[in-house]
Amino acid sequence: MSVALFTLGGTIAMAGASGGVVSRLTGADLTAAVPGLAEIPLDVRDVEAVPSAALTYGQILDLVDAAGAAVAGGATGVVVTQGTDTLEETAYLADLVWPHPAPLVLTGAMRNPTLAGPDGPANLLAAARVAAAPAARDLGVLVAFNDEIHAARFVRKTHSTSTATFASPNAGPLGHVIEGEVRLLTRPPRHAALPPVDAGRLAATRVALHTVTLDDDPELLSRLAGDRDGLVVAGFGVGHVPPAFAPVLEALAARMPVVLTSRTGSGSVLRHTYGAVGSETDLRRRGVIWGGLLDPYKAKVLLRLLLAAGAGPTEVAEAFARHG
Ligand code: ASP
Repeated sequence: MSVALFTLGGTIAMAGASGGVVSRLTGADLTAAVPGLAEIPLDVRDVEAVPSAALTYGQILDLVDAAGAAVAGGATGVVVTQGTDTLEETAYLADLVWPHPAPLVLTGAMRNPTLAGPDGPANLLAAARVAAAPAARDLGVLVAFNDEIHAARFVRKTHSTSTATFASPNAGPLGHVIEGEVRLLTRPPRHAALPPVDAGRLAATRVALHTVTLDDDPELLSRLAGDRDGLVVAGFGVGHVPPAFAPVLEALAARMPVVLTSRTGSGSVLRHTYGAVGSETDLRRRGVIWGGLLDPYKAKVLLRLLLAAGAGPTEVAEAFARHG
């Protein structure tokens, strides 16, 4: 049994500097003196040392390839340490393309190592235990944080500073790490992995995200989305927009896939309950695609991958019907 550890930076790997902490610790630094971690043989690879705001889709897909090679080479599972800010997106991106039964487990920290009570060591240990656990197989990409285990497709960063920031508002955690033991409470069915994506096409595929707000300006939306390949709209509540947005979205939906999500942070957009102009029923009639339970950020990840793979509006709608 061995676990491959890939480090990407983030708060878990930050150390003091006169202008504030920056990512600079290596995997060897992170793994030193974590009580209990020595029981799990780790193969450590330092990949990046950056804040997670600097990560790109290309880097994450390269990481997935390297993690897949590690698993093919005999690793029981994989741990990735990175910054927490974009972890809900990177985890979902990896999950969409991770085809292996072995667990790929992301973690990080909210308190950097210079602070009292840094959470990085405990999170790293929990993630390694999950990556090594037979019970965690066939669940796709997971997030281990604060002794909870979350599915990548449900997890959200819900607080800017709390060590309990990661939560799955629609589903709850899949399980917990209790006295070092991985305890899974539920096993959601897994979606088949999307086919590998061409890096050049991915880099060239541009998807906009617009969150509607009270008395919003539809002109902004037209300008934002005009030359993009796709658009995600984070609507009010169950998927509503101001009436003036409806014809603008209809025109955009005639040219590109437009996916409707909710800006609320949990719950699904609806399909056919409300009937006013700008309601979910009206928008679907105008060609807007139902995003289901996917939050706007995850919807943007899925839409970009689909478009980079050459999916048209019908295939995009079918994919959101499955994944949403
Ligand atoms: N800004 C940091 C990052 O995402 C926050 C963190 O790691 O928790 O890299």
